[in-house]
Amino acid sequence: MNREVGNEVSAVPRLAVLGSVNMDLVAYVDTVPGGGETVTGTDFRQVPGGKGANQAVAAARAGAEVAFLGAVGDDAFGAELRANLVSHRIDASGLRTVPGVSGVAHIAVDGRGGNRIIVVPGANAAAGAVDGDEARVAGAAALLLQLELPMEAVVAGARLGRGLGVPVYLTPAPARDLPDELLANVDVLVPNQHEAAAITGHTEPRAALAALLEWVPEVLLTLGEDGSLFGRRGEEPVHVPARQVEAVDTTAAGDTFCGSFAVARAEGRSAREAMEFAAAAAAISVGRHGASSSMASRDEVEALLR
Ligand code: ATP
Repeated sequence: MNREVGNEVSAVPRLAVLGSVNMDLVAYVDTVPGGGETVTGTDFRQVPGGKGANQAVAAARAGAEVAFLGAVGDDAFGAELRANLVSHRIDASGLRTVPGVSGVAHIAVDGRGGNRIIVVPGANAAAGAVDGDEARVAGAAALLLQLELPMEAVVAGARLGRGLGVPVYLTPAPARDLPDELLANVDVLVPNQHEAAAITGHTEPRAALAALLEWVPEVLLTLGEDGSLFGRRGEEPVHVPARQVEAVDTTAAGDTFCGSFAVARAEGRSAREAMEFAAAAAAISVGRHGASSSMASRDEVEALLR
């Protein structure tokens, strides 16, 4: 399949995602409670999420063909989570059903659009590339990884991608120690400011970027309302501001940004163009409630960029 990108016609990119899939149970509240405190929420939604699934949906909505590798439980959430991926035309043949509960995330969204999240991994603990997944990753324009799976599964996924010559993106969230063997097989690291500071000890974005580039060839640092900063070894970093939008719910802003950026790069856009594309997609997402359900379609992103 082909599509016009600017004045060029490019093939529709194919991406693979190895990652988590969770049911997000989202409570809206004016102010999140402290320890031992109970507060009354204002609304509740049950939304498919998980960093892996969110990035997969973002990439699919941005126009890519996406293969998803992961695991759900044999409970009611598992069936719903699978159906959600399929409804976004994602190839879920690599999503295994394992005995037990599916992953669940309890999310509290406060009156200013900030969030607090508790993730219970459930079936995600059993996820990882298995026999047959090599064919799902081979030939992809990118393999997207995050850290909501067991570290061994992430390390093996990165090794698989590198071995197949597929560019490996890693979102190092939630922040954990990163084994050298993982970093050695990552092409693009996509942390937010907190994760970059946790890894490097630097809170200043350019200092964190420089430190991360000692380990990986490319870094895309997301800075929330301050936009994003992209760096490649030996080159001057590129900063793209965030779009002005009234933030309603920032859940999955980073996943939307990463999935959209990877698609735009796979289509041959420059890093700056891909950041602008991703910033538009993320702005639409933060202006609406929900995680994957709030993500922009490609047409909406293109309209905002015109
Ligand atoms: P999350 O953990 O909520 O998924 P994150 O912390 O990983 O998000 P951020 O750095 O907060 O990611 O945001 C990613 C991108 O989303 C930013 O680079 C920016 O383009 C966009 N974004 C985030 N917050 C806002 C906002 N309030 N207004 C406009 N754009 C935003």
